[in-house]
Amino acid sequence: MEQLTDGFGRVHRDLRISVTDRCNFRCSYCMPPEGLQWLDRAELLTFEEITRIASIAVGEFGITSIRLTGGEPTVRADLDRLVASLSPLGADLSLTTNGTRLVSLASALVDAGLRRINVSIDSLRPERFAELTHRDELDEVLAGLDAAQRAGLDPVKVNCVVMRGVNDDELVDFAVFGRERGVVVRFIEFMPLDAQGDWNAASVVSQREIVERIGAVHPLEPVGRGSEPAERFRFIDGGGEIGVIPSVTEPFCGNCDRIRLTADGRLRNCLFAVDETDLRTVLRSGGTDADLAQAMRSCVADKWAGHAIGRVEFIRPPRSMSQIGG
Ligand code: SAM
Ligand code: SF4
Repeated sequence: MEQLTDGFGRVHRDLRISVTDRCNFRCSYCMPPEGLQWLDRAELLTFEEITRIASIAVGEFGITSIRLTGGEPTVRADLDRLVASLSPLGADLSLTTNGTRLVSLASALVDAGLRRINVSIDSLRPERFAELTHRDELDEVLAGLDAAQRAGLDPVKVNCVVMRGVNDDELVDFAVFGRERGVVVRFIEFMPLDAQGDWNAASVVSQREIVERIGAVHPLEPVGRGSEPAERFRFIDGGGEIGVIPSVTEPFCGNCDRIRLTADGRLRNCLFAVDETDLRTVLRSGGTDADLAQAMRSCVADKWAGHAIGRVEFIRPPRSMSQIGG
């Protein structure tokens, strides 16, 4: 089978699909406080269009992993219907969500074929959570995490973006939370994709510091990185493990195997890409599967070596994280 290979020999196997740009949260590191102008419904790819692109990605190019994201994917109506149409493709299907709607959706998503989930939580303190997300819904999110575990999603992981002076005093609390709940907490280095452009290097808490601060209380040992961007560390006393995604201080670009489809049908060959390939126009102008495959092929072929965060040549992408999908 043909593979989606770029000019540096990296083979792409992981497709992230943003199903909507809308979100019920406005996390400070992802979206401006006043919100964003949402896409019109007609601009969003339909479930049929998404499934067609995913089928080509899996069937023609051997994509093995599909993650649904957003915006907030659970605000798109009938998400379980999309999961049901993607799961027969046989790729490893997962979801990244803020968790607010999992109490009502988790079982239906599992019935439709979802197996794994990541829930984003950046503070375990209700007031801080409300300040960060602009929604006072920590209880709903924690109940959603429970619902995901009860529904049989496995693994359930928690994503936490660490920002200096904002939530880095909760590193150990999150580690304890993960140990007690039996979930893997993955700490993500803060990346310059906030809509307001407030990011600066000093606000990043490095992987090294995250591991040192948690390890000083609950000793850790490295497990390795494997094919995942997360570096894994296990508690020496057997209490489970944590992950760190060091996208800024130790970028994964050399092994990156991800491509991203935005809610309006643009294919991006890098989280930080400034150019996109418009698959929606190919779809809606009567393009064949071969036309779509060719557009995907050339998008990946054009991929650069990696982002250049922290260097003068770094260019901020025009989209914020909520419009790309993480
Ligand atoms: N709404 C869903 C959620 O919050 O999980 C899915 C979309 S969100 C854009 C995907 C992931 O990107 C989340 O885990 C979020 O924490 C992360 N993220 C958003 N902005 C980020 C930033 N500036 N740096 C690092 N991670 C970020
Ligand atoms: Fe919404 Fe997720 Fe961005 Fe928060 S991180 S604003 S929940 S898309």
